[in-house]
Amino acid sequence: MQITIHRGTHEIGGSCVEIRTRQTKILLDLGLPLDFDDRDEEQQRQIRHEALAWAQDAEAIFISHYHADHHGLLPDVPTDIPTYTTAGTAAMMRATEVIHGRGDAAYLRHLKILPKGSDDRSFEPTTVGDIRITPYTVDHAAYDACAFLIEAEDRRILYSGDIRMHGVKRSLYRNLPTKVDCLLLEGTNLVTEKECPHEAEICERFKEQFQSETDKLHYVWCSGQNIDRIVQIYKAALNSSRKLIVDTYIAYILEMVHRMKPSIPSPLSPFEGHDVFRYFCLNTYLQRIEGAEDPEIVQQLKSLPTVDTADIGRNPGRYAWIIRPTMLRYMQKYNHTPSVVVTSIWEGYERRERAFMTWIRERGLANPHIHTSGHADAKSLQSIVRHIDPGVLIPIHTTAPERFGDLFPKRKILYPQDNESIDL
Ligand SMILES: [Zn+2]
Repeated sequence: MQITIHRGTHEIGGSCVEIRTRQTKILLDLGLPLDFDDRDEEQQRQIRHEALAWAQDAEAIFISHYHADHHGLLPDVPTDIPTYTTAGTAAMMRATEVIHGRGDAAYLRHLKILPKGSDDRSFEPTTVGDIRITPYTVDHAAYDACAFLIEAEDRRILYSGDIRMHGVKRSLYRNLPTKVDCLLLEGTNLVTEKECPHEAEICERFKEQFQSETDKLHYVWCSGQNIDRIVQIYKAALNSSRKLIVDTYIAYILEMVHRMKPSIPSPLSPFEGHDVFRYFCLNTYLQRIEGAEDPEIVQQLKSLPTVDTADIGRNPGRYAWIIRPTMLRYMQKYNHTPSVVVTSIWEGYERRERAFMTWIRERGLANPHIHTSGHADAKSLQSIVRHIDPGVLIPIHTTAPERFGDLFPKRKILYPQDNESIDL
């Protein structure tokens, strides 16, 4: 088997790996570089053109999870290349398109869902030519993310996708196959020595925060697609007797996931005895969801009672409100309401939202940062490698591949460049 990392040997994001046998070629992920929007038009055209070249004669593409840096170039390749992903990833990709649609999402209609095993915890293998691909659910800040085991020509390769060990599904790494010939392992967090706090600790910090400034409205900026994080915020709100305000986008996403995994809370399907959610209707999103022809959800959203907006101003301490910088104009209506803005997102995103951060600063609002990474820290990577015990290790999705040498001094490690092929 031949492995070619097209992008990701020295970069976080924009991952794409080609696996080739004498008969068959497949791609694992086809991501958009994280700095894509900052590139000039010519560079963007070049990136799209490369994706098309990599996908040429590929018999299938396998997507590990719904973050754009792993699938964002799919609109640029022909839709007749079968593209496989888990049901959760496909649902979230569709939901994102409904909400933020770029209008070039024909590929979504052609996604193929990777079949689950009989116990609903494992997956059936999928065969493409002479390559057998088996997904394994992993812990990451994306619902239903997976790693892929690739088997062909008497060799086994494991591609980690994005993975961590400090989330709610941390023990899943133990299900990953062992003694593979090669492990392609992400190393996003290798530039720092810091250990990542567990998601449960994040929940505790939210509880403390919600209980500490009881007279203030708590805005929480987090990703609407980081389901595990929203669940921690929900639990903290429940524990602190705050009502959690979510808008149409979050309500829609939570309901989509709740339908696949009923333990995830949704304002459209509240748990008995848990009066936590309050709903803030955003008509623009409602119209987009309506346009996506999901009449049942639209009907449910339309009949959901909306939060008493005057009460937010009167009793700010009763509420926590999941927001995004694009919701600033709604927040400005509460300019005189005592507030805290908790950011629960990677710091890099804060730097990109200058107007929003300036608004927080100018109003002198407290701005605690309560967050943990979606990626494994160094110690976790060592545990994962100890478990898998691969013949060869290849770093990917990292700006510091050479750190693998310090972490794994006794392992055989290969450090290819982008587009350099390795024969296994
Ligand atoms: Zn990711």
